[in-house]
Amino acid sequence: MTATALVNVAELVTWEAEHPIRHHAGVVVEDGRVAWLGDSADTPAADEVIDVAGGTVIPGFVDSHTHLVFAGDRAAEFTARMAGQRYEAGGIQTTVAATRAASEAELARLLAARHRELIAQGTTTVEIKSGYCLDVAGETRSLQLARSLTPETTFLGAHVVPPGWTADAYVELVTGEMLTACAPFARWIDVFCETGAFDVDQARAVLTAGKAAGLTPRIHANQLGHGPGVQLACELGAAAADHCTYLKDADISALAETSVVAGLLPGVEFATRHPYPDARRLLEAGVRVSLATDCNPGTSYTSSMAFCLALAVREMGMTPTEALHAGTRGGAWSPAARGRRSPGAGGASRPGGAGRPSHVHLAYRPGVPLVRRVLTADRWRPAAELPDCPA
Ligand SMILES: [Zn+2]
Repeated sequence: MTATALVNVAELVTWEAEHPIRHHAGVVVEDGRVAWLGDSADTPAADEVIDVAGGTVIPGFVDSHTHLVFAGDRAAEFTARMAGQRYEAGGIQTTVAATRAASEAELARLLAARHRELIAQGTTTVEIKSGYCLDVAGETRSLQLARSLTPETTFLGAHVVPPGWTADAYVELVTGEMLTACAPFARWIDVFCETGAFDVDQARAVLTAGKAAGLTPRIHANQLGHGPGVQLACELGAAAADHCTYLKDADISALAETSVVAGLLPGVEFATRHPYPDARRLLEAGVRVSLATDCNPGTSYTSSMAFCLALAVREMGMTPTEALHAGTRGGAWSPAARGRRSPGAGGASRPGGAGRPSHVHLAYRPGVPLVRRVLTADRWRPAAELPDCPA
C-alpha cells in the first residue's frame, strides 16, 4: 500500500455534500482512493508528500463517450464543413474503410497514443466504443484493444449500416453473431438512433438484445434533429442518452423522471456548426447531466475535457462549477463508475499569473495545459511524462 499526501492545496474539489470545494486543504490518496481530506496543516504522514504550492486539485475527468479505436483522418471533411457543407451520418463510412484497412498493431499504436493524450490532460476514467469496422472480426478486435486500456468498453456495432447491407439484415447480424462475439469484451451496448443510421425499432432491437446478453444500454440520441432516441433510452432504462441537442419538453420530463443521464458533447456542435444543447434547461428540470469529448475523427476530434468544459460554459449556460461537476461526477453517473468512488483525485493544476488559481481557470483559460500531475496506476505522475498505461 502506498499513500501519497498532497499539501498546500489552495482549492480542493471534492463534491462532498457539506464541503464540495475546500480551501487550504490537504488530501491523502492510498491505492488510488481518497483516504483522508482536511486542512493542509493537519495532513497525516504518508509515504510521499507532494507540495502543490497553492495549486488546485480536482477529481479526475470522467470521459464517458469516446470512439478512440480508428485509423485515418477526416481533416478534409472538417475543412469542407467549416466552409458551409452540412454534416450527415454517412461520413462515418470514410473512417470504417480506413480502420478496416489498418493492421491490429497499427490500431493498437494509434489507440495507445490517443489514450495517453487524454490522460495527460487529466482524464482518469474513459469509456471507449467500437463501431468503425462493422464486421464480426473487426468489432471484436476493436473491443479487445479497448479492453486492454479500460474496463468501460462499449459495443457499437450499430453505428451505421455498412455498404452492401440492408439495415434489417445488418441489425440481425449485430444482434446475433456479432453480439455473441463482442459481448465478452464489452460492458455497454450503444446504437446511433438517427436519420441516416438506425430507426427506433432497429435501435430497440439492438439495445434489447444487448441487455439480454448482459450489457447495459446507452444511446446516441437526438443529435441531428428531434427524434425518438431519448424516449427509447428512458423506456429501456439506459445509463445515458448522449448528444441531446434537440429536445422537446416531453423528452426533458422523461429524463427528469428517470435516472438516465443526458450526456452532452459540445465538441460535436463546435466541429459541425450545429446549435449547442441547452444545458441550463436540463439542469433546471433536474436532469442529470454529463459532459464528454465524443473524441472521434469526424465530428469532434478533441481529447480535451477542459475544452468541452469551456464550451459548456460559453455556449450552453453552465457555470464553471456545474461544468466541472458534469465532467467529473456527472460522467461517473453515466458510464462506469456508477456506484463506485471515482478514481481518486485527478489533476493538479497551477495556473500562473495574478489571482488565486481555481477550477474556474479550466474554462477561463481554454487551450492552456493547466493539468500538471495526474493520478494514474496509483502514482501522481507529471502530465508531461506519462507512459502508455491503463487509466
Ligand atoms: Zn459518439
